[in-house]
Amino acid sequence: MSATVINGRQVAQDIRQEVLAGVRALKSERGIVPGLAVILVGEDPASQSYVSAKEKALAELEMQSFDYRLPATTGQDELLALIAELNRRPEVNGILVQLPLPRQISEDAVIQAISPEKDVDGFHPVNVGRMVIGQRAYLPCTPHGILQLLARSGVKVSGADVVVVGRSNIVGKPVANLLLQKSSIGNATVTVCHTGTRDLAAHTRRADIVIAAAGRPMTVTADMVKEGAVVIDVGVNRVADASSPRGYRLVGDVDFAGVGEKASLITPVPGGVGPMTIAMLMANVLQAARVQHGLE
Ligand code: NAP
Repeated sequence: MSATVINGRQVAQDIRQEVLAGVRALKSERGIVPGLAVILVGEDPASQSYVSAKEKALAELEMQSFDYRLPATTGQDELLALIAELNRRPEVNGILVQLPLPRQISEDAVIQAISPEKDVDGFHPVNVGRMVIGQRAYLPCTPHGILQLLARSGVKVSGADVVVVGRSNIVGKPVANLLLQKSSIGNATVTVCHTGTRDLAAHTRRADIVIAAAGRPMTVTADMVKEGAVVIDVGVNRVADASSPRGYRLVGDVDFAGVGEKASLITPVPGGVGPMTIAMLMANVLQAARVQHGLE
């Protein structure tokens, strides 16, 4: 492997320390403790582990969590009533509803019910719109985490040719949008690829930075990247592995070993983008408390 491996856990830890300092300052100067309501509907194991990790991070950073575990049979009206109550409670600065939701509940309805001021996931159309036109907004956590990883790894994004593989509302579109903003951590020339793209490799091969968010192993292989490219792997995929006690292991969307021979910098899976998502969520909860108390 000739590429330098970006240590997402370390960068995330640095950000968490900064958030902790901000939380302590808010508490000592104003007596305010930021709080996040975390709602999980149903018992999906992956969602349960994501929610536990978020609650653990809140505790470590000395913030409050308000936990709601609702049965899989919960109706949409019941969930919307809970969100309406949380929108009104001043000690709740952020509201997070873990996705995906059971079939009887519309994700769009839930996202739109959360007050934009408490939408720390950055999924509400008001925050998405504000982000797109460059106004202050809660930035979606994974895309913002990717920009922070690049900035804190010393990658020159301004002027770079970036290819994003994937156009989902939670990763591909927002990361592309943030990268093209005329900002200190953006200002790139961005191409977004998807399953309708005619020749994916022709795009990725000329990219200075490739961001893979397709949700499919081996989407980006060594022949698809140029020498010295920076490769960020957002994918989290389970592949069968009889040698693992769980029967599977996690891999990204990138052929890590092969691409690592050509790239200058690469993120691993796990330990790359993943830890950044929770770190940026924590930063958003602190920001929400500051905004709601008129400090930002
Ligand atoms: P998604 O909603 O399934 O979107 C995948 C996107 O990739 C779609 O736009 C799809 O194109 C495109 N795509 C799929 N296969 C492709 C191919 N062969 N060539 C070109 N484009 C292709 O997934 P997502 O929610 O964005 O998540 C992407 C991956 O990131 C998943 O593995 C997910 O688990 C992971 N993820 C990780 C984190 C983290 O914190 N590390 C956070 C969120 C997501 P179409 O639009 O044409 O279908």
